[in-house]
Amino acid sequence: MVSKGCSQYQEDLMDIYYGELEWDVKTKEHLLNCEECNGYWEQLMEMKKTLEITSEEPINYSEIRNVMEKAEEIQQKNSLKDLFIFIILASGFLFTIASLVFKGYGRSILYLQGILHLALPLSLPFLLKRRLLKEELDEH
Ligand SMILES: [Zn+2]
Repeated sequence: MVSKGCSQYQEDLMDIYYGELEWDVKTKEHLLNCEECNGYWEQLMEMKKTLEITSEEPINYSEIRNVMEKAEEIQQKNSLKDLFIFIILASGFLFTIASLVFKGYGRSILYLQGILHLALPLSLPFLLKRRLLKEELDEH
């Protein structure tokens, strides 16, 4: 049997990463002896860690639930258009905070909040108008 090449091993590693393939002795052995494939596997592990950290961000879950509750309140009071705008603004805000925390700029968040509090009311009419125009286009 012809021994597998690195690209074949890396395909297998990708399948193992996604749980579609079990480890076998040959792949393990190759990983120990091949710097390139070992590096490839390290990258996959890094990616996994990154995804886990991102999805475990505690600020996200509690804040999103908050937003959803507020969104429900708004839905009862106002039209769907207002709800859309609120969700877009809120998720943009949360995403910005989450990605800043993730990048290690936690200390800047207070400043960011201040800036956003000033900037949001100013940009709201513009966003509102753009959103309404877009919905009109979608409807026709
Ligand atoms: Zn290799």
